Amino acid sequence: KEVGNRQAFPDVEPGFMRDLLPSDAPKAGESWEDVYSDIERVVMKGMTHWNASGFFGYFPAASSFPGLLADILCGGATCVGFTWVASPSCTEMETVMMDWLAKALNLPQCFIHGGHGPGGGVIQGTASESTLITLIAARSKVISRELSRDPNLSMYDVLSRMVVYTSNCSHSSVERAGLLAMIKIRKLDAGREGVLRGKTLQEAIDEDKKNNKIPTFVCATLGTTSCCSYDNVDEIGRICEIEDIWLHIDAAYAGTALICPEFRHIADGIQRSTSFNFNPHKWLMVNFDCSALWVRDSSYLSNSAKVNALYLEHETQQTTIDYQHWQIPLERRYRSLKIWFVLRMVGIDGLQSHIRRGVAEAKYFESLVRKDERFEIVFPVTLGLVCLKLKRPGLNLEENSINKELNRKIQDDRRIHLVPSTVHGIYFLRVATGSVNCSRQALDN
Ligand code: PLP
Repeated sequence: KEVGNRQAFPDVEPGFMRDLLPSDAPKAGESWEDVYSDIERVVMKGMTHWNASGFFGYFPAASSFPGLLADILCGGATCVGFTWVASPSCTEMETVMMDWLAKALNLPQCFIHGGHGPGGGVIQGTASESTLITLIAARSKVISRELSRDPNLSMYDVLSRMVVYTSNCSHSSVERAGLLAMIKIRKLDAGREGVLRGKTLQEAIDEDKKNNKIPTFVCATLGTTSCCSYDNVDEIGRICEIEDIWLHIDAAYAGTALICPEFRHIADGIQRSTSFNFNPHKWLMVNFDCSALWVRDSSYLSNSAKVNALYLEHETQQTTIDYQHWQIPLERRYRSLKIWFVLRMVGIDGLQSHIRRGVAEAKYFESLVRKDERFEIVFPVTLGLVCLKLKRPGLNLEENSINKELNRKIQDDRRIHLVPSTVHGIYFLRVATGSVNCSRQALDN
């Protein structure tokens, strides 16, 4: 709560920390009191306070008392649960929590561990890792498929022909995943509304197939970072089913809203996806880091980069989950504790109220903007994001420059912190509501 009253963006210049800290580590240990007394002077001085009431940037960063308690227990218990034996409690809690979450969000049955299929969920650190790991799984699936069709091909022949599709409004992490996996990425036009449609995807796939390319992976976004638009997952999913393409859904921000029945329509067609990801650490009151990923068939994930070492083997490995194979690092934290604590102490009712509050704040702010003739709302306000700009008749360029100027003034003023974006060449300001200390009063100010 106290953080709520702090300035969102600090008054520091790059390099400030070197002047505050000695050039070498202390030889003898110091007391906790000494360290504690430096927290304000050194640490807090340079913090961007994501939970300040004046912070409206990016998307919210979740924080809650149960989430904090779980992180303390996680650190205190010192759990490193890469295999079932490395920590049975960590592995088993995670599978149950991923099922709890999947049911709370009404995700398709194919994603549930306790279901009948090969699907299930895993906690990653971030949405970026989720996209990368699913792309790697899709890559190995396609390589095996193509090599079994033509054994004369090499893995590199196949790799060089693969294509990943996403929209030009998807998050930068999707492009990054393509670079890391060394697969060509095509950013398709999402139009003025920022929505990728099936027709655009189909045209790109047809063109690529004519050129002997292999459509491999589509990353659709539900709740784009720029403007919270939603790709048409139903149209895209139908195409991916026919073309045998892995469809990953990045719902890093908006996925949390699926906990409320009235927002579930944004994910129409989700049953056609191969994998689905959202970040409880954005809006579900679970402290960073916690990114929930579900896959329809976990074998593609767990076999895509499997390496065995004697010291990692154990007697139950044929029948238990070893999450080491579902992620990029080996070692892993007991992140599901945060989900357990939050779900138990806040409950689904409490989480629904939290989401509804954030959406109501956005609607409230939208109504304030609409009353002010100088501004216009740029995209429909569907969840907790309001995109606005100063209007000025004339060319985009001119309009963009006055909005850039406004953004600069807001940053210099320091009373609030927000980040701008562009869609289709139009520059606008984003106000993200819904963080723990956001309120109507803060929006009025
Ligand atoms: N995808 C979307 C839609 C996002 O909004 C974000 C971050 O805001 C990301 C991916 C990246 O998330 P992470 O930092 O967890 O990798």
